[in-house]
Amino acid sequence: MPGSRHTWGMTTFTYMANPTRVVFGTGAVAAVSDEVLRLGASRVLLLSTPPLDTAAGAVRRALGPLLAAEFDGAAMHTPVGVTEQALRVLRDCNADCLVAVGGGSTTGLAKALAVRTDLPQVILPTTYAGSEVTPVLGETSDGRKTTRSSPAALPETVIYDVDFTLSLPVDMSVCSAFNAMAHAVEALYSPQANPAIDSMALGAISLIAAALPVIVIDPGDIAARTNLLQAAWLAGTCLGTVGMGLHHKLCHVLGGALDLPHAQTHTAVLPHVMAYNAEAVPDIMARVAAALGVSHAPDGVFDLIKVIGGPVSVQQLGMAEKDIASLARQAVAASYPTPREPRVAGIEELLWNAWRGNRPSGDREVPDVSLLTYQVAASFDDAPDVRGRRLVTSLVRHLHGFVVENEVTQAEWHRGIDFLTRTGQICDAGRQEFVLLSDVLGVSSVVDVLANARTSETTPSAVLGPFYVEGPPVMPCGADLAAGLPGIPMWADMIVNDLDGQPVAGATVDVWQSNEDGYYDVQLPDLDGPVLRGRFTTDDEGRLAFWSILPSEYPIPDDGPVGQMLVATGRHPWRAPHVHFMISAPGYRRLITQLFVAGGRYLDSDTVFGVKQDLVVDFVPRHGATPDGRPVNGEWRLLTFTFVIGKD
Ligand code: NAD
Repeated sequence: MPGSRHTWGMTTFTYMANPTRVVFGTGAVAAVSDEVLRLGASRVLLLSTPPLDTAAGAVRRALGPLLAAEFDGAAMHTPVGVTEQALRVLRDCNADCLVAVGGGSTTGLAKALAVRTDLPQVILPTTYAGSEVTPVLGETSDGRKTTRSSPAALPETVIYDVDFTLSLPVDMSVCSAFNAMAHAVEALYSPQANPAIDSMALGAISLIAAALPVIVIDPGDIAARTNLLQAAWLAGTCLGTVGMGLHHKLCHVLGGALDLPHAQTHTAVLPHVMAYNAEAVPDIMARVAAALGVSHAPDGVFDLIKVIGGPVSVQQLGMAEKDIASLARQAVAASYPTPREPRVAGIEELLWNAWRGNRPSGDREVPDVSLLTYQVAASFDDAPDVRGRRLVTSLVRHLHGFVVENEVTQAEWHRGIDFLTRTGQICDAGRQEFVLLSDVLGVSSVVDVLANARTSETTPSAVLGPFYVEGPPVMPCGADLAAGLPGIPMWADMIVNDLDGQPVAGATVDVWQSNEDGYYDVQLPDLDGPVLRGRFTTDDEGRLAFWSILPSEYPIPDDGPVGQMLVATGRHPWRAPHVHFMISAPGYRRLITQLFVAGGRYLDSDTVFGVKQDLVVDFVPRHGATPDGRPVNGEWRLLTFTFVIGKD
C-alpha cells in the first residue's frame, strides 16, 4: 500500500485516487449501453443471482443487442469453481465486456473473471458492500479464502441505480450499511489516512446514521436510499484507497473459520473493535461521534444497530463461546496495522463482548427513541395544511427531545398531565389559565417579540394577557372608563399615526385595565357589567381621549395551577402597572400593546415578562385644571402617547 506508515496522528500522506468512472442516480441503468460502448465493447456477459432477476431484467432490456450471454450463478465468497463455470460461458459467447448486477458476491465474480481475462467491467451494485470501487478480490478454494489486490480487478465503470436498492430487504440493508460504515471507520485510523478519505469516511458515517432509521420505517424512501447508496460509494472508495485494520481482519477470520454471514458479522463486531481502538485514537473517535451525532462513538454505533433491529451479538449469528480463544489467537497472529496493539487477552475480551452483545462502554443504555420520533412525525405526512404539518411535527420532535434530555419519569409525566388537566378545568369565559401559563413561561412574549421584530418601526407590541374580553362597550371621546371607581384620576390623550406620521382616522381602540386594587372586572363577580374597559374610535386627527384611573401593580390570578407553580418555584405573581390597548384599522396590522407606568413596581421582574423599555411612559402628576374642564380635587395624571401602526 503506497504511503504505508504506522504513524497515527501525523499529517504526511500519499494519495492516489482509483480511476473508476461513476454514474449515479435513479434510473441510471439506462446508461448501461452507452457505458459499454464507451469501453469499446459490444458483446456483454451479464452476471447476476436469481433474487435479482427483476434488476437483471432491467439491465437486459437496457443492453438490448449488446447482450451476448448471461450467468446467474454468482455465490458468496467467490468460489473458484463458480468462476470456472462462468469462464466457460464467457468463452463460449466470446464476450468482450462484463456487466454485473448484484451485491458484493456478484461483483466478486466479475472481478475474478476480469483478472483472468482482462475484460472491462461495468458494475451495477444492489447492496452497500462497496466492492465495486476497490481493486481487491477475495476468492475461496478448498474452503480457504485468499485475497489479492490487482488493477485488473478494479471495475472500469460503476452505475449506481438507486432503484435497484429498493428491493434489498430491510435486515440486509441495515447490515450492508454497517459493512460500509466499518470501511469508513477503519479508513479514519488507517496508516494511509488522508484528508480526502477522512471527509469521505465522515460523510459516509453521517449519511448512514441519518438514513437507516428512515429505511427501517419506509424501505422505499428514495431520499434515504439515495443517501445510503452515496454512503456506500464513499465508504467503498475509502476501502479501495487506504488499508483496513483489526475490524476487517477479525471479520475475515470469523467468516473464514465459522462461515458467518459477511455483512451481519461486520455489524455485530464493529462497535467492539471501535471500543478496543478508542483509547489509542480518541480524537478520531470524537470525529466519528460527531458524525453520528452522539457523545460516545462505539456506544453510538451499538445503540443505532440495536434500535433499528440489527444483530448486536455474534452469538446470534452462530458463533459458539468456545470459539473465542482460538479466534483471538488467529486474529493476533495475522499481521495488519491497527492503532492499538492486538493482544490475545484484549481480543478475547473484545470477542466476549461481541458474543454477549454487551454495550461497549458497559454504561446503562439510554434507549434511542429516534425511530419512534420519526414514526410519529411521519404520521402527519399527509396533513393537507403544510404549515400545520410543520408545526405539529416540530412540536413532536421538541417534546420527545425534552422527555429524553430530562429522562422524564412516569411519575413526572403523570404530574405534568394532572397539571395540564387542572389548568384546563379552571378555564371558563372569565378565566384563561392557559394564556396565563403561556405568559408566565414567557411563551407569549416570545411570540410577541417575533411578531414585533417584523415591524420594527411601529410601536412595540406586548402580550394580550388573559383579561381581554371581546366586544367591550363603545364609548365616545372623553368618556370615563372608571365610572366612579376609586383611584387617582387619569386623563389619557392619545394619537394613532401611520408610519408616515399621518393620522389614522376611524381606528378602533380597545382599552382595558385593572382597578385600584389590581383586579379586572372579570375577576369581580359582584360587578354588574364591564368596568375599566371600552372601545373608542379615533377622530380625523387620529385622536382619542378618555378618563380612567392610574393603574396599579397586581398579582396575576394565583389561586389556580399556574399560581401553585409560581409558589413551588419561588416566583412572585406580580405584574408591573399598565394599561392595555388593542388598535385595529382597515388596511393596518392590528397592534396589541400595553403602556407601563414609569417608576411603577415590578418593572424589572414583571411575572409575564411583558415590559419593553419603549412602552414605559410617564403618567405625569398634575393638579388643578383638567383638559376637558372636569373638576378634580387633588392629584390627577396625564398620559399622552402617539401610537404608530403599520400597513398590513
Ligand atoms: P451478497 O452480494 O452476497 O448478497 C446477499 C444476498 O442478497 C444475495 O442473496 C443477493 O442475491 C441478495 N441481494 C443483493 N442485492 C439485493 C437487492 N437489491 N434486492 C434483493 N436481494 C438482493 O452480499 P454483499 O454483502 O453485498 O456482499 C458480500 C460479499 O462481497 C462477500 O463475499 C464479501 O467478501 C464481498 N466483499 C468484497 C469487497 C471487496 O472489496 N473485494 C468489499 C465488500 C464485500
